[in-house]
Amino acid sequence: MKKVHNFNAGPSILPAIAVENTAKAILDFNGTGMSVLSVSHRSKEFQAVMDETVALFKELLGVPEGYQVLFLGGGASLQFCMVPYNLMNKKAAYVESGVWAKKAIKEAKGFGEVSVISSSSDKNFNYYPAIENIPADADYLHITTNNTIYGTEIFTDPDSPIPLVADMSSDIFSRPVDVSKYALIYGGAQKNLGPSGATFVIVKEDMLGKVERYIPTMLDYRTHIKEGSMFNTPPCLPIFTILETLKWIKSLGGIAKVQEMNQAKAKLLYDAIDNSRIFVGTVEKNSRSLMNICFVMKEEYKHLEEEFMNVAKAAGMVGIKGHRSVGGFRASTYNALPMESVQALVDCMKEFENSKA
Ligand SMILES: *Cc1c(COP(=O)(O)O)cnc(C)c1O
Repeated sequence: MKKVHNFNAGPSILPAIAVENTAKAILDFNGTGMSVLSVSHRSKEFQAVMDETVALFKELLGVPEGYQVLFLGGGASLQFCMVPYNLMNKKAAYVESGVWAKKAIKEAKGFGEVSVISSSSDKNFNYYPAIENIPADADYLHITTNNTIYGTEIFTDPDSPIPLVADMSSDIFSRPVDVSKYALIYGGAQKNLGPSGATFVIVKEDMLGKVERYIPTMLDYRTHIKEGSMFNTPPCLPIFTILETLKWIKSLGGIAKVQEMNQAKAKLLYDAIDNSRIFVGTVEKNSRSLMNICFVMKEEYKHLEEEFMNVAKAAGMVGIKGHRSVGGFRASTYNALPMESVQALVDCMKEFENSKA
């Protein structure tokens, strides 16, 4: 297989062992003589996969009693409406930290009053907005812990006097999380956990059943809790791969260990950016994401961006083009990205810079 360094923002790199075991299971699922693509989701073999995935997810993340872990379809984007559908009576508070937060806000407005308590839109979302002045009469506060497009992240689990909801699509399992501080956490699997097609939801059960409105069956969390994420056919293959990814995290020593690796990778790249004459980071230092590292070329070198992109591509770098709303470059350094790939990118940047001296 061609050797590349996969910095894609999502779907993104997965642990090689998880991909390999998925490939094997596509051919023969646990010795059943059938592909994992072709077994019934009601079979005892698949039920075992679902049970183990939920159990390992809870174990590794430290999900307390009273919370349920669900695997659903629809992506994080469906959660933008499912959250207010299930949790908002009249009013909810949102932190506007980027494009995904804006999309969540747009959906919530269809269900009641939305109070945007803070925003970093004044500086093209290059910092994490303050979380303060949380309205006591709102049903919940919604945050996006990692802003995949702009490369900002909040590293703490904020204190909130009202139930806290978080979109953790792009930093779940990258750092330890105090789940007990949240009423609900959701995200698409395709950044740090598995292939696209599965959405994880961690929900505190006693948060549900408090809204007046009718909730369509498929959009009611209680339906999926009652049926163990099997009300309808779940995304079986993505769930299988999620389990393999979780096993990999466990084999490394758990989330704290993964966090250390992520910190080391990010430090290597941020240091290279900060020590560069031609590259510059786009994010305020205390908000810098460990998962999506955004940088551009300094104003006087802007004309070299395209040339560097070509050089980097030739050196095997994939997915480093910045999102169109930021420009420049974005290297996503998710859990499964090896240090070796970050080193290769850093070497490539240094070599390019030296060639322009
Ligand atoms: C990718 C992403 C989404 C969108 O996820 P889908 O599963 O494609 O709907 C939402 N929020 C964040 C923070 C993301 O990174």
